Amino acid sequence: MKYNTIHINPISPEPTQGSVLVIYTGGTLGMVYETKGKQLVPFDFDQIIEKVPEIQRLSFAITFLSLQNPIDSSNITPEIWIELGTIIERNYTTYDSFVILHGTDTMAYTASALSYLLEGLNKPVILTGAQLPIGVPRSDARENFISALELAAAVADDGTPILSEVCIYFNSLLLRGNRSKKQESSDFNAFHSENYPFLANAGVRIDYNFPFIKPYDSSATLSVQKKLDSQVAFLKMFPGITPKTVKAILQIEGLKGVVLETYGAGNATTEPWFLEAIREAIEKNIIVFNVSQCDGGRVTQGHYQTSKYLKEVGVVSGSDITAEAAITKMMYVFAKENDPKKCAEMLGAPLRGEMSVEYS
Ligand code: ASP
Repeated sequence: MKYNTIHINPISPEPTQGSVLVIYTGGTLGMVYETKGKQLVPFDFDQIIEKVPEIQRLSFAITFLSLQNPIDSSNITPEIWIELGTIIERNYTTYDSFVILHGTDTMAYTASALSYLLEGLNKPVILTGAQLPIGVPRSDARENFISALELAAAVADDGTPILSEVCIYFNSLLLRGNRSKKQESSDFNAFHSENYPFLANAGVRIDYNFPFIKPYDSSATLSVQKKLDSQVAFLKMFPGITPKTVKAILQIEGLKGVVLETYGAGNATTEPWFLEAIREAIEKNIIVFNVSQCDGGRVTQGHYQTSKYLKEVGVVSGSDITAEAAITKMMYVFAKENDPKKCAEMLGAPLRGEMSVEYS
């Protein structure tokens, strides 16, 4: 992929404190109205100081890397996630932190995927975006962007970064990336994290929620996984789902795993044809990962009779994981490990704080 690069140094005479690499992938944040028409087009990052002059007053150096052809995040792919991981790897020793500007539609998927790919991460990687383009007067882009930069650059008294994980910053809240979900397509509070507390609240001051922030690990060394396996699918339960639909999904050639989106605390129909289809899939080494359709609460297999059988046939509980974190976790785990038993073990345990340990 090709990139454009711009360097911005602080205008204050103070010595530079740290450096942030901003990677612009596209999305609403970077849009402006084209001069003649009424259409929104990606803005040229050469104009960044004109659009957000405040960034020169921050006390750290910022480098911008912009994809030559920014995308709407609905077009994101696992290849781009690996590309983002590779950019971070190549620049890891040069920069203290990373901010990724990304469309909101798939930001939770990207944040989840990166949380797995960036093994041994001990620097901040903060994704942000906006509901209104930067070129619009009431835009939320400026606040989201500047606060994300400040959070990325924040250090503790001993000089170590306060954050050392993949996060999403949006509308005053910093969330763990792989716990986040897009909840709103029009209000400014686009993201929430129902099953995990926010990591920071950026009001007049930035208040950190320290007990929930991943502790800094000075011994961690970054290693970026460069493979993801897309032989995965979602199977969402709904009243009236037919055997034909279920079979069509479970019989996809080469399928390695399915995220089964169940009701409530992990429940599904007890119709014999359904249970039989799940049992057959598991016998063929297809992993079935049970994730609730509810945003809050968790899967507790065996709590109701309607989930007991799922547990008995070997469905893996997703506890309180989001669907976004579950599907990307499968892609990561299947690319890393061939043995289905080990894959099931990895899926059922937290790898990057994306789920709580299941109790049963
Ligand atoms: N469709 C846009 C995107 O995800 C929406 C946004 O940026 O908020 O790229």
